[in-house]
Amino acid sequence: MISKEKLEEFKNRLSKEKLQILSDIFGEEIAIKSFADQSEGDIADKASEFYESQLLASISGVQREIIDKINEALKRIEDGVYGKCKICGNAIEIERLEAIPYTDICSSCAKKASRR
Ligand SMILES: [Zn+2]
Repeated sequence: MISKEKLEEFKNRLSKEKLQILSDIFGEEIAIKSFADQSEGDIADKASEFYESQLLASISGVQREIIDKINEALKRIEDGVYGKCKICGNAIEIERLEAIPYTDICSSCAKKASRR
């Protein structure tokens, strides 16, 4: 089990990483705008979600893949299933999460996948 503090830490790291990628592509101002008001309830939430999806629609390739993975990871944190391997269902090693916070498979499944 990952502690609440640790989850919060991963959440912060994931958010920062996402902001960093968006800043690299669109500039800081726009990136921050897509994050703005997220704490101010449903309507603001939906507005920034909409804004973010518009931003996402204009990027592709590796950066898009990473952002998608980060978003999935953030959702898993919310759903309380973060850190669980989506292939075997075992807990993902904490060291692996520290290295790649948005990963959704454990290291042994990752090894098997790369061997294929
Ligand atoms: Zn696994």
